[in-house]
Amino acid sequence: MALIQCRECGKQYSTQAAACPVCACPTVRADRDAGGGAIPVVTTAPVVTEATGKHWKRLQLVGILMMLGSCVAIIGSAGGSAKGDTSGSMIGGGLFLAGVVAFIYGRAMAWWHHG
Ligand SMILES: [Zn+2]
Repeated sequence: MALIQCRECGKQYSTQAAACPVCACPTVRADRDAGGGAIPVVTTAPVVTEATGKHWKRLQLVGILMMLGSCVAIIGSAGGSAKGDTSGSMIGGGLFLAGVVAFIYGRAMAWWHHG
């Protein structure tokens, strides 16, 4: 059985009572007391800086993977280039440039946001 403090006279009494036994002030439960202002406010979670850092690290990783993938594409198309087919190396070159841009962008943003 819990005790509450009367908001009028300060006397502690049972929560089961409908009113304060001393001053007859009606029992107001804390969770329903509009005038109390003691309602806990659930604030939104703060922005986690580590999460944004991971975002830029992932971008750098994607850039590295794109550069590696472009190397594989260029090497793979070496045989095709001998026959006049340069589409493989074109794709590889474009992928390499995109990888470099993604990596540099990731590095720049990581520096910009985290010093
Ligand atoms: Zn009272």
